[in-house]
Amino acid sequence: MSVTTRFAPSPTGRLHVGNIRTALHNWLWARRNGGTFILRLDDTDAGRSTEENAEAIRADLAWLGLAPDAEHRQSDRFDRYEAALERLRASGRAYPAYETAQELDLKRKIQLGRGRPPVYDRAALALTTEEVARYDGEGRRPHWRFRLDHNAPIEWRDLVRGGQHFDPALLSDPVIRREDGSWLYMLPSAVDDIDMGISHVVRGEDHVTNTALQIQMFEALGAAPPAFAHEALLVGSEGKLSKRLGSLGVEAMREAGIEPMALVAKLARIGTSLPVEPFATAKPLIESFDFATFGRAPARFDMEELAALNARIVHQLDYEQVRGRLPRGMDEEAWAVIRPNLHNVAEAADWWHIVEGPVEHRAGEDDRAFVASAAEVAEAIEWNDAPWKALTAALKARTGRSGKGLFLPLRQALTGRDSGPEMAPLLLLIGKEQSVRRLRDSAA
Ligand code: GLU
Repeated sequence: MSVTTRFAPSPTGRLHVGNIRTALHNWLWARRNGGTFILRLDDTDAGRSTEENAEAIRADLAWLGLAPDAEHRQSDRFDRYEAALERLRASGRAYPAYETAQELDLKRKIQLGRGRPPVYDRAALALTTEEVARYDGEGRRPHWRFRLDHNAPIEWRDLVRGGQHFDPALLSDPVIRREDGSWLYMLPSAVDDIDMGISHVVRGEDHVTNTALQIQMFEALGAAPPAFAHEALLVGSEGKLSKRLGSLGVEAMREAGIEPMALVAKLARIGTSLPVEPFATAKPLIESFDFATFGRAPARFDMEELAALNARIVHQLDYEQVRGRLPRGMDEEAWAVIRPNLHNVAEAADWWHIVEGPVEHRAGEDDRAFVASAAEVAEAIEWNDAPWKALTAALKARTGRSGKGLFLPLRQALTGRDSGPEMAPLLLLIGKEQSVRRLRDSAA
């Protein structure tokens, strides 16, 4: 069977880690099977969908390396939904209803008050032709519902959740089109999945009930339903679905210096039985992707864990992969020295500014003699591959200083700052001549 998956965001906002994860899993499954990954823009809500958001979604996917093989938008396909509704109407599987939102609300409240589930009572199915004609005459426009087949139990084997069973009699006939002619999500999505030959629908478990309804839609439209994988949702590190998670998108990742591969490596594996590993490419993730490894418990997303994974990935990046993001003049050798010390690529600039100088620093009264000795020692020691160790050991022996009293004045004199990157690799980059000069100038 050829595999076709789709990622179907509404361009009413930016992507966030939750739907990036959905996109990724659809992409991984398509790649794993040599299949096709489609971006479907669910833009039936003309008021809230914008081209700017659509563009941002494309850009985010590109940044993540999840470029789709094809793109469709629902607003181009209204005639298809129209045709499907007509077909359902002709076969008695769609019907007009005239209740107002207030009437429906009241019905629900009465049902709940009687301790019954708030399932739509199908009053609209009992309308006579005269009543319908009267409503139409009054200028009332109907909304449309899909009529569930109460005699056909809904069952599927979910790739994550296992056997699923729904009794259609306990579900409301879903509204598929509003009075104003606009489409709700439910039917267009099923029509698209049929037309686009979607083999696997991979989405969050918040869609499980929709799937039950859509399975009957696929069948009513003469199509076999695709396979479904409903993943447990993502929660924040504090254990609940946090607001922050919903606003945590590619922009925030970039700001935090997170590499796309770090996010991909993390989101591919959290919530599965496979370990999160600092992969530098998606290949091992594609090869190991398997719905059977997905757990049923919510997956916890923790920004600090992501940052730690990010650092491990940064440590593997080659100069060629980052050179465009490094400060001018920073060469391959410098990258090799500082790379193991970085949390993110942007930090390289901090190091480089210190290496390049200029450094303006005057040692305080108490430290001046010490820094002058440091200049002499720096001049005298063998400037091999560990000059910092040699310098501090010799100074410790000579002056009796240790700890902060030893390290801080050196750092200040050499970098002009109280804190910053690790001194040992930094000193290698600053070099002997510069280091001696900085120490002398500071002590002068
Ligand atoms: N636009 C829907 C959503 O973002 C798509 C759901 C689906 O994958 O069918 O929730």
